[in-house]
Amino acid sequence: MARKVFIAGNWKMNKTAAETRELCKALKEKFADICPNCVDVAVCPPFTSIAAAIEELKGSNIKVGAQNIHWADNGAFTGEISGAMLKEMGVEYVIIGHSERRQYFGETDETVNKRLQAALKYELKPIVCIGETLAEREGGKTEAVLEKQIKGAFAGIKECCFKKVVIAYEPVWAIGTGKTATPDMAEETHKFIRKVCAELYGEALAEETVIQYGGSMKPENSQQLVAQKDIDGGLIGGAALKADSFHDLVKNAIA
Ligand code: PEP
Repeated sequence: MARKVFIAGNWKMNKTAAETRELCKALKEKFADICPNCVDVAVCPPFTSIAAAIEELKGSNIKVGAQNIHWADNGAFTGEISGAMLKEMGVEYVIIGHSERRQYFGETDETVNKRLQAALKYELKPIVCIGETLAEREGGKTEAVLEKQIKGAFAGIKECCFKKVVIAYEPVWAIGTGKTATPDMAEETHKFIRKVCAELYGEALAEETVIQYGGSMKPENSQQLVAQKDIDGGLIGGAALKADSFHDLVKNAIA
């Protein structure tokens, strides 16, 4: 089965609710010329802007995701958001284990796994982020790091659940830096990720798994990256914050 291209915008800590409405209005208009059969598109605003995004994007071909989820159903976890809360709002996707969460908020493979289980329980589509740092790449440790992250994230996750997961490969050194992995370099790593998935879940399931690339993807390079055999879309930071650039990036990716 051919994999469908999936491109998601991670807005990080950008866009108030009012700014979200403005951006979503522009996105809805711009994306009218993008065929929903060719690509799945989502935006992931901050929690406080999710309701506004869902309202503004109603009737469009753009879905809404969140940037994190807590593993507990409810309780004394100040500042956290549960799967039930996201589901009730109408959220479809959730980003888990972004490198900024790992770097600044103590996220580990173990907490990624717990958050993933919560997302699956609440039938949210998880986007699980993995990626190596520059030091790890330069030290020849990329594959070992990715394998450990994959095995940690998916520990105890059965095949039926793995089917629902999207993986985002985001080399940390390419996020927000303007440095993109070359298409060849990214493809080689995506192929490795698929191989590890095949070892865990079998060839057929690994072949169906959507693996996004993330790290300074822009309208100028999205076509070349997504044209690679094992690159099935993108997780986009900076270029997702403007309607023009996000639209052009998606349009070029499926051209
Ligand atoms: C990201 O944070 O997921 C990301 C890929 O950011 P950028 O596109 O800005 O590099």
